[in-house]
Amino acid sequence: MEKDQYESLKKELSTTKKIIIVPHKSPDGDAVGSITALYGYLKKKNHEVSMISPNDFPSFLQWMKHSDEILNYEMNRDQSDDLIAAADLIFILDHNAFHRAGDMETPLSKADATFVMIDHHQQPDDFATYMYSDTGMSSTCEMVYHFIENMGELDSIDENMASSLYTGILTDTGSFKYRSTTSTTLRVAADLVDLGADSEGINRKIYDVNTPTRMKLLGVALNNMVILAKHRTAYITLTQKELDDNNFQKGDTEGFVNYALSLDNIVFAQIFIEKADEGIIKTSLRSKGNFDVNTMARENWNGGGHKNAAGGRSDESMKDTVDKLISILPRYEDDLQSTQI
Ligand code: 5GP
Ligand code: MN
Repeated sequence: MEKDQYESLKKELSTTKKIIIVPHKSPDGDAVGSITALYGYLKKKNHEVSMISPNDFPSFLQWMKHSDEILNYEMNRDQSDDLIAAADLIFILDHNAFHRAGDMETPLSKADATFVMIDHHQQPDDFATYMYSDTGMSSTCEMVYHFIENMGELDSIDENMASSLYTGILTDTGSFKYRSTTSTTLRVAADLVDLGADSEGINRKIYDVNTPTRMKLLGVALNNMVILAKHRTAYITLTQKELDDNNFQKGDTEGFVNYALSLDNIVFAQIFIEKADEGIIKTSLRSKGNFDVNTMARENWNGGGHKNAAGGRSDESMKDTVDKLISILPRYEDDLQSTQI
């Protein structure tokens, strides 16, 4: 966003506005962290703010300040539709297309509000008057920090906002491991620690919350893992029955795909998770180096995301879905083989 756009937005925010903040469906640490921090910021400016999530979010994020104020669209459709219709401004965070907000797509596309997008995914749709889109950014949380910085109000970041923002940076960078972690990302994280984010405590709340059933499910996932060494690929499947047998809770499969990617000389990993209630198989794709899973997800799995982390879905059976993966790999063979790690 250019300087004059910040000036214009500052002017809009100089009087009390009705504001909605929306994360993507199945919000992760970056989505919940960025919306709760932005909520804290806008509330301090005396706006009437609501956060509406397309669906529920994992319990390991429930400690975040204001997370208990997030409206779940699935449970509060009428109230949410009214709020969206009456909004002056709608902030779209950690996604860049209405269809990523699930059933909220319709009310959002009908809204009269001025849209502000803060997002780091590829190929943004063109609906926002104020569009802060940067695919080079580690996380939307890092962007919210820069957004507040550009609004000239870094001093409004309190301990709770700092903790929310730190969480999204932590989770979206794989604990500062991915190449999206720039020196600026680390400086922002350091600043957030100075502003009160408790790095050790946040790590504990996010990563040391394994349950015995999640560990068992991980065992099933690893047992199901198939390594296609000649394609430098590994994939994992989890059927609805396997999830049910292990008392699956939302968020339990988070990070499973990374075990497949952590194999030596594997540059591409994919996990397929059956969601019987939606009649789909949700898939997550991960890669190392220059192998581009955003394109792969767009071309084959009705999805998208980033170069090294993307998601999508399949409407076919697990067997047909896996067969499809195996059938498309040869098309990517040159890229798989030439990827340097
Ligand atoms: P995950 O695999 O953790 O669900 O998502 C990885 C990345 O891909 C995230 O940045 C997420 O926003 C994006 N992503 C996940 N699922 C989809 C999808 O169905 N469509 C699109 N466009 N992006 C997705
Ligand atoms: Mn993100």
